[in-house]
Amino acid sequence: MSAPVQEKQAYEQSGLYRLRHSAAHLMAQAVTELFPGSKLSIGPPIENGFYYDIDFPSTIKEEDLPKIDQRMRELAKLDMPIVRRVAKDRVDAKRIILEECTLGQGDATALYKLELLDAIPEGDEISFFEQRATDKQGKERVFIDLCRGPHIESTKEIKHFKLMSIAGAYWRGDVKNKQLTRIYGVAFDTKEELEHYLNMLEEAKKRDHRVLGRELGLFMFSPVVGQGLALWLPKGAVLRDVLSDYMKDEQTKRGYLPVVTPHIGNAKLYEKSGHIITYKEKMFPFMEDEEKETFILKPMNCPFHIEIYQSALRSYRDLPIRYAEFGTVYRYEQSGELAGMLRVRGFTQDDAHLFVREDQLLEEFKGVVDLIQVTRDRLGLNEMRFRLGTRDPNSDKYVGHPDNWKLAEDAIARACDEMGLDYDVSVGDAAFYGPKLDVIVKDALGRAWQMGTVQVDYNLPERFELEYIGEDGKPHRPIMIHRAPFGSLERMIGFLTEHYAGAFPFWMAPVQVAVLPIADRHNDYAEAIATALRGFKDKDAKLTGEMTGFAPIAVKPSSNLRVQVDDRRETLGKKIRENQRMKVPYMLIVGDNDIEAGTVGVRSREDGDLGAMTLQGFLERAGY
Ligand SMILES: [Zn+2]
Ligand SMILES: [Zn+2]
Repeated sequence: MSAPVQEKQAYEQSGLYRLRHSAAHLMAQAVTELFPGSKLSIGPPIENGFYYDIDFPSTIKEEDLPKIDQRMRELAKLDMPIVRRVAKDRVDAKRIILEECTLGQGDATALYKLELLDAIPEGDEISFFEQRATDKQGKERVFIDLCRGPHIESTKEIKHFKLMSIAGAYWRGDVKNKQLTRIYGVAFDTKEELEHYLNMLEEAKKRDHRVLGRELGLFMFSPVVGQGLALWLPKGAVLRDVLSDYMKDEQTKRGYLPVVTPHIGNAKLYEKSGHIITYKEKMFPFMEDEEKETFILKPMNCPFHIEIYQSALRSYRDLPIRYAEFGTVYRYEQSGELAGMLRVRGFTQDDAHLFVREDQLLEEFKGVVDLIQVTRDRLGLNEMRFRLGTRDPNSDKYVGHPDNWKLAEDAIARACDEMGLDYDVSVGDAAFYGPKLDVIVKDALGRAWQMGTVQVDYNLPERFELEYIGEDGKPHRPIMIHRAPFGSLERMIGFLTEHYAGAFPFWMAPVQVAVLPIADRHNDYAEAIATALRGFKDKDAKLTGEMTGFAPIAVKPSSNLRVQVDDRRETLGKKIRENQRMKVPYMLIVGDNDIEAGTVGVRSREDGDLGAMTLQGFLERAGY
């Protein structure tokens, strides 16, 4: 759900990491005892806990978790010492897996472990996790698992844990493989930490953007439309517009140029970019037309923007060129990994690509970081950190020459240092074409979320042979910066919904003001108020409020507020409760006295009843 709070490397060396690793094995032991024939695959520690992916002989449900939980506690109390055993060689390792790890439950249960063994590089040490003890009945309880650790010393340290949920997960993350059952658990060093975490989850549940999104009329999902494909309801669509307008304004001030590109494109373009070789598993199935041309649903906007760059001869004076697009992209996320708006299959990035000269890179990069910081302030977020994702030199999921990677990684690190940014380095978290600086923000509950990103890229310009003519009259290669300060509108709005528990700040709220007539005879006045606040003017540039004869409804002509009139025939009390539940920042209640005095009764979401005011007075109060 959220990005790792701890810096990855430090976490992996912590005692908590060992505890959680060991808890995963303890759970696996409980499972093999309770459900003989279960095939174990992998069970790593994660943020706050651990999981284990298991191929069960028959379906298990969340109702089975307490049983597994209880068995884990029983086993933990046996105070089993945990030892690390090293296999003599590969043959010995295979024997241990088949004879000892399976605990007499049949060779077939070793299926996944044998595959994991095959994946261990030749020459690497192969080690096992082992715990055993004799229980009160004199029966030996033992569990052996292929794992290099590190683990804790004894099971008795595993006390403060809870099994949380079940999900589906494909073996090796590949949809073509069998779907396994993933059991998630959390584990902490102390009872207090566990309780604090569970309380936070309770609070988070109340703020769940999937629930609030529907209640507040922001967005929904429909199985008929498809998993991970969001439907934006009117209020959510307004929120999208408010955020995009804000970003577009900021970008215009900073010299960005808008571009618009299609949702599908020829596969050749994505072959050239390297997407098809490195990114294929995240792409929707390809489409072929009658002329045998293959098209793909775009997973990223970059190749299109590159085509636009290449459509003309560029000179050093043209650079930097900053192309911005709210581009909708599609990624084939596994169904088990979809999570409301936080992980969807179609989303709109606040994307831009900057084509810059070497001597402009540092300043342009800083400009992007500045935009991110300005955005953070506008969104009302206080805490923000950065994570520099670099290439894993041992992986083949990247394109480009190591020299280019070094240049890009150094450029980001230098810019971060010069700006005094607080950042961690995370090896292996780069994009396939370049290193990236991820923005991590903390929400009101202290949870860390990965939001926007900035990437420096020397590789795509090379693959596409991008050029500009330098001052020397010779061709030079530009560098690309990919950046999305929000990340995506979907993720950002999901995040903001939870951060604000649906009570968005005034400037952002889909409905900023609700006008509540007390009785039917106040409806026309309520409409006149709404029209004035909306800033509507007729062709003679007169406020409609004036035209309707309800003077004085004079407001700044630029108010342009999002206003709704609630003229349902309900009691005033019910209408107030309802608008409060919808988290509307201000209600303006109008009755006989208001019509007479030209006022409105103001009620604020946070401060309750504020009494009668003129419209101008209300706007000042709202900070408008
Ligand atoms: Zn382990
Ligand atoms: Zn890009």
